[in-house]
Amino acid sequence: MRWEDVEKRKFSWKEIWDMEAFRTSFILRATYDVLPSPQNLNQWYGEDPTCHLCPSPANLKHILVACKTSLTQGRYTWRHNQVLKCLAAALESRRTVINALPSPSVLSASSGQFVREGEKPPKTRQPKPETGHLGAARDWRLLVDLEQRLCFPAEIAPTNLRPDLVLWSPSIRSVYIIELTVPWEDNVGEAYERKKLRYAELAADAEQRGWKATVRPVEVGCRGFVGRSVPGLLKDMGIRGQAQQQTIKALSSASERASQWLWIRRRDNSWAPK
Ligand SMILES: [Zn+2]
Repeated sequence: MRWEDVEKRKFSWKEIWDMEAFRTSFILRATYDVLPSPQNLNQWYGEDPTCHLCPSPANLKHILVACKTSLTQGRYTWRHNQVLKCLAAALESRRTVINALPSPSVLSASSGQFVREGEKPPKTRQPKPETGHLGAARDWRLLVDLEQRLCFPAEIAPTNLRPDLVLWSPSIRSVYIIELTVPWEDNVGEAYERKKLRYAELAADAEQRGWKATVRPVEVGCRGFVGRSVPGLLKDMGIRGQAQQQTIKALSSASERASQWLWIRRRDNSWAPK
């Protein structure tokens, strides 16, 4: 097992208490891979180890991320989009807050009091809002590849690639290309590298046209463990402290609930998400 690329998770007793027993049991058994998957049932009772949807032997990993039938039926895309909705909501609310702030020049002027050499600037009554990397502009735009098929903004660079999220500011010519993966936890690091590579050329194109382009792959493991890239991105977007913890919990829970649904439907040949 390679778990070094994922964040530790903390559950308070209250949270465990509040969780439905079925969900707690799913998270724990999925984490330790002791759910009754065909392959485990084969080991325990000598049952047929074959997947109910395809001819491959099925362990939990197969059911949650590697089944070809599940892939073509769109099960994994459905789960990916559940998590993407959650991430997009967090970034959209951030974008709206930042765009509504007074312009960056007004903010710096108001805090630009006279300070003698060697003295610390006096504490202002109103703390500077936490804006992260987005603080330099007020015209951030966001596109998400969900209901509407994403067309990468032509003003940045022409491409057929469709990243999950594009966040950009025309005024400071800065663009974030954000790509979400919902991998098996052991493959979080590898997913990061793969996605980084996929958008490298697009980022280089954008840079050539005078944009500052930042590719940010993020991973939310299919059993709810988020990659290190997630708090990293949230921090850069100015989502810190409790807000960051809440967003991480929401992402993690979206992934885990969707995986639980895939698990429940593992014997069901037809696929129509709720
Ligand atoms: Zn299968």
